[in-house]
Amino acid sequence: MRVGVHVPVAGGLLKAARRARALGCECAQVFVRNARGWRGRSYAKAEVEGFRHILAVRGVSPLVIHSCYLVNLASPDKVLRDQSLRSVADDMVRAAALGGHFVVFHFGHHMGAGVSSGLESVASAVRSLLSDAPPGVDLLLENSAGRGTEMGADWNDFAALLDLLGGDERVGICFDTCHAHAAGHRLDGPRRVGRALRAVDTAVGLSRVRLVHLNDCRAPAGSHVDHHEHIGRGTIGDVGFRSLLRRRELRGRCAILETPIERPGDDRRNLRRIKRLQRRGVPRGRR
Ligand SMILES: [Zn+2]
Ligand SMILES: [Zn+2]
Repeated sequence: MRVGVHVPVAGGLLKAARRARALGCECAQVFVRNARGWRGRSYAKAEVEGFRHILAVRGVSPLVIHSCYLVNLASPDKVLRDQSLRSVADDMVRAAALGGHFVVFHFGHHMGAGVSSGLESVASAVRSLLSDAPPGVDLLLENSAGRGTEMGADWNDFAALLDLLGGDERVGICFDTCHAHAAGHRLDGPRRVGRALRAVDTAVGLSRVRLVHLNDCRAPAGSHVDHHEHIGRGTIGDVGFRSLLRRRELRGRCAILETPIERPGDDRRNLRRIKRLQRRGVPRGRR
């Protein structure tokens, strides 16, 4: 797997690209707007060019754009849904400008309207997004921990959505390890990892998984609580990550860390830990 991290853009695009370079990222993810608001900054041409140049020289690819957390395309509230649609559409335009390949978003919450209503709503939104999509930018739907009426914790949601979209190849899946584990698709051991991946394969086919989010999980498996933890310190643990990183089925995929930054350098330490698990297996004393 090609591994990178989610780099913050608070200090501008150039700073984000330099951080990706300093960490030795092979791929990277960014927000292009306030993660918890709707507003996107406008970028100067020189800033965009500098950003693209650094990533190109270092071969940092693919570049992933993560949509903001307010997006809810499954919502029965028309105002929220339309706002979400505009926001993801704008993410796709920005992705194209920045040389990005994927825009990741979450299924969202059906807010009591029911799963099938949520699915219809997301499907029609995705159809409209794809009809105006800039070439070369694909949509990735991320699995969730399944809290409350949140959709996308069950792989059948993905299968049903892809059916509604006629299996459109421009829609892929982002597999988040913390969310899967919290949703009850346990990843804390080789056999469990095998079982969790088979469930994805049966529902939608593993070839749909174009991106992996590597996050350990602070909450217990099956708790439906989405709380990311440093690699090896959560309820998935080194053994779980080691087996996931070595699965043949996921070879060649890109993987992004969205682990917490509580102390400076946490991103570097988590990335190093993943690289070590890829190469040598479980570090001593962590079995
Ligand atoms: Zn994620
Ligand atoms: Zn999460």
